[in-house]
Amino acid sequence: MCGVFGVVAPGQEAARIAALGIFALQHRGQESAGVAVSDGEQLMLYKDLGLVAQVLDDRRLPSLRGELAIAHCRYSTTGSTVWENAQPTLRLGPRRALAIGHNGNLVNTRELLAKLAGGRARLPASTDTELLTALIADEPATDTVDALRRVLPTTRGAYSLVVLDERRVLGVRDPHGFRPLVLGRLAPQEPRTVGLWDDPDSAAGWVLSSETAGLDVVGAEYVRDVEPGEIVILEAGKAPASVRFAPATPALCVFELIYFARPDSYMEGVNLYEARRQMGIQLAGEQPIPADLVMPVPDTGAPAAAGYAEASGIPYREGMIRNRYAGRTFIQPSQAMRQRGVTVKLSPLREIVRGRRLVVVDDSIVRGTTTRSIVELLRRAGAAEIHVRISAPPIYHPCFYGIDTQVETELIASTHSVEEIRAFIGADSLGYLSLRGVLAALDLPYDRFCFACFDGRYPEPVPYDAASRKFALEEGVGARG
Ligand code: SF4
Repeated sequence: MCGVFGVVAPGQEAARIAALGIFALQHRGQESAGVAVSDGEQLMLYKDLGLVAQVLDDRRLPSLRGELAIAHCRYSTTGSTVWENAQPTLRLGPRRALAIGHNGNLVNTRELLAKLAGGRARLPASTDTELLTALIADEPATDTVDALRRVLPTTRGAYSLVVLDERRVLGVRDPHGFRPLVLGRLAPQEPRTVGLWDDPDSAAGWVLSSETAGLDVVGAEYVRDVEPGEIVILEAGKAPASVRFAPATPALCVFELIYFARPDSYMEGVNLYEARRQMGIQLAGEQPIPADLVMPVPDTGAPAAAGYAEASGIPYREGMIRNRYAGRTFIQPSQAMRQRGVTVKLSPLREIVRGRRLVVVDDSIVRGTTTRSIVELLRRAGAAEIHVRISAPPIYHPCFYGIDTQVETELIASTHSVEEIRAFIGADSLGYLSLRGVLAALDLPYDRFCFACFDGRYPEPVPYDAASRKFALEEGVGARG
């Protein structure tokens, strides 16, 4: 996963707006951050490893001048966590200069690499985004949009992109729209009188963001989603333009709605807090259990726990406190870091849990190690019974479209029954929400989503060799830090 943000802000410092926007998307990636800007003539980039607020601080931003900017925060699904792999990428080629921020994961990187200078090209980094940037920069088309329209149909997989050239910011979603991307309108800095025949959009700014939460933080108003297979073209003084490079075959990642995106964001017209609360209501109906308290695994389990408590009539309490300064466990790139992360992140409220029968609600079990540590923490704090309830179905299949569960054996549900998982995590009972329950909670058509990690039906075929190995581009091509 990653967060992307783009802005065209006439008369304003776009880098500051982009930094604020990407800060609101920090939950989507915590390994690195960066901003690329254009002053209308040339592009500049600043990126580094670290959190947004550490990388894009007041020492850096004033030197990044211009009305156009894109920003990115990274969670690696291709390539290691090294400076070279931070984004946006920047290519100042003989044909064109451009910078790209990418959320997603391409599945045909080997095929694409072979196309680039017959496979002999040296890339400055080992990410699929660097490869895509090189392909677009080298494409012999007169214009960036034309280059995108030629290159994108050859790519397969997940990509929501923000692209910057000297004059424009472009927003792109792959034909399935696996990852979200929304367009917003930024009010002019100084309101001015618009004549009867003036274009009211000419003084406005435009914003692209992975989630609507990124629009809210910069005061932009939601206009619409970028459509799957669409390129949105943003230029100062003009209303947004749109071209298609492929027909839309929508398959938005359902995990965005279940747990990944912020609860205050909206997707498919649905507020995600409310969607998750509804999942909790469905879960209480499908997986009831007598208990004294319902508690969430903070913070992501909270909306579903609220729904479970409401539907079951069991009181809701917070039984664990989360250290606000610890990152998301799942998002840490290595297993060793993930394991250490749990105890750093959560501590039990003994007075609440001691002697009580608890329903502990979370949104997913991936490897099982986090849930096991949580159950252990609650047992040590004196819980009488621990009943784990998950507001999504078991994850049987890996994701190749941008969530880092790429190896089947990492997924506990792919090799263990529910009873075996219960025994592994040490809970008194374990229950999952069914796929039918997720759909009932969302109240949206099934055919708009990707559910592949639950049902194995991949909307975009994954080449056998891809088993999309994360470090595929580090085997002989590109830098490895
Ligand atoms: S496979 Fe799962 S995590 Fe990946 S895009 Fe599809 S629903 Fe989302």
